[in-house]
Amino acid sequence: MSNCLFCRIIAGEIPAAIVFQDDSLVAFKDINPQAPLHLLLVPKTHIATLNDLAPEHDALVGSLFRRAAALAREHGYHERGYRTVFNTHADAGQTVFHVHLHLLAGRGLTWPPG
Ligand code: 5GP
Ligand code: ZN
Repeated sequence: MSNCLFCRIIAGEIPAAIVFQDDSLVAFKDINPQAPLHLLLVPKTHIATLNDLAPEHDALVGSLFRRAAALAREHGYHERGYRTVFNTHADAGQTVFHVHLHLLAGRGLTWPPG
């Protein structure tokens, strides 16, 4: 989608600090990090929200979580701990309507979240 921020990052039209990519997903640093490690894992196909996931996306969602775990390990946080979050619509604070998995690590993360 040409007017989608994350589609434009995936297309290389907007720069981002990309740390990993393969055929199905890209991971880059959040521009406004909320923890020492704050990455966004983004499918290369445009899906607006979790509500729009279909059975054909099951493998993709698995890949997002498995890659998040691999990146947490790569950065040394796999045992200390980390958080993975999808925000969906207004009450959760979703601002970019292209599904993305937040990976946060490097500080104590409170629960329940705000
Ligand atoms: P949401 O609030 O939709 O769950 O998360 C959107 C995230 O995208 C936010 O954490 C925000 O900081 C990040 N973000 C917004 N614009 C950009 C950008 O242009 N580049 C990068 N790397 N991250 C962005
Ligand atoms: Zn998009």
